[in-house]
Amino acid sequence: MELFDYMQDYGHEQVTFWSDKESGLKAIIAIHSTVLGPALGGTRIWAYKTEEEALLDVLRLSEGMTYKASVAGLDLGGGKAVIIGDPAKIKSEALFRSYGRFVNSLGGHYITAEDVGTTVADMTYVHKETSHVTGLARSEHGSGDPSPLTAFGVYRGIKAACKTQLGTDDLQGVTVAVQGLGKVGHCLAERLAEDGAKIIATDINPQAAASLVEKHNITMVEPDEIYDVSCDVFAPCAMGGVINDNTIDRLRCKIVAGAANNQLAETHHGDELYTRKILYAPDYVINAGGLINVATELGAYDADEAWRKTAAIYDSILRIIDLAKDEGVATYKAAHRLAKARIEVAKQEKEKSGSNGRQVLEALKI
Ligand code: NAD
Repeated sequence: MELFDYMQDYGHEQVTFWSDKESGLKAIIAIHSTVLGPALGGTRIWAYKTEEEALLDVLRLSEGMTYKASVAGLDLGGGKAVIIGDPAKIKSEALFRSYGRFVNSLGGHYITAEDVGTTVADMTYVHKETSHVTGLARSEHGSGDPSPLTAFGVYRGIKAACKTQLGTDDLQGVTVAVQGLGKVGHCLAERLAEDGAKIIATDINPQAAASLVEKHNITMVEPDEIYDVSCDVFAPCAMGGVINDNTIDRLRCKIVAGAANNQLAETHHGDELYTRKILYAPDYVINAGGLINVATELGAYDADEAWRKTAAIYDSILRIIDLAKDEGVATYKAAHRLAKARIEVAKQEKEKSGSNGRQVLEALKI
């Protein structure tokens, strides 16, 4: 990959690498945009096969965070971090403290939180070295694990998508195929089941959700079979890139709506879903609940406010569907347009008046 070409094509501001031999830390922080505010995004630990794979992941994820914050109406930019390694093997206090010093070295331009492979407990160590961390434990005056809020937002987004595509947002009897029963997928499946939805699910580690599966009579399928399941909603809640050349022909759903980041392997897969009349709830819009929650923690944390703002993902999804219909484009394009418009206004305002653009954005309510 030609890194600078990529950064210039996709608008990244800064990519920083950090290596610490003693703790074994190999980390990359990508800041995509700080136009709306400091870049906030989680830290992912993953056993990437190559450094290039890790770099591409952090670049793509950080860009998604910019749009997520923008559509959610937050005064935050987009950033993300990856740590290379198997989370089951590499974690230590020394590693997270070294990582905390890395975050601190960016002087608040980047604020971290948990993501795949990291937990609230890991952030406690990061917090010993930097104040630029959120998603902290309740005992540290934080808001705890953001996953329940993410799941709630996805649930609200699924209801909005069903309202459009099925004519009702009552989930009784609606079939949802959930890919991944981890922190978010688990909470989501539980909420959907409580509303009377029929859940078909998969996980590469089926034991992890055994009690949930039994309690709600969830039908489990093999990981690769989830794409062939005939259902109303396919909810990707594991990893990104699952809507791709190999899977798109296999989908038997009316809606794709889930928690995973970067669900579309390439943007053209969003157009292909549109052509097939499968309604796609853009990932960074529907999964913004966790970000809304940790962003609320940056002030004095108010749980009611976080849940209320997350519930409004229902309206954001409807708004994007309407915009897409009006313009005759795929929903991912409508979401991009909305996200970029808000950033562009802020940029122009900054250039014009030197102000931070907040007043203009508030007036525009976008
Ligand atoms: P997690 O690691 O707790 O759960 C992921 C689950 O997916 C695990 O149980 C794992 O075994 C399973 N899995 C992995 N690969 C799979 C495969 N090929 N097939 C089936 N199952 C597979 O992660 P999480 O926090 O629940 O996040 C899930 C997704 O949602 C991620 O893409 C994450 O980036 C995204 N997301 C999470 C949050 C949050 O608040 N946790 C916020 C926004 C987006």
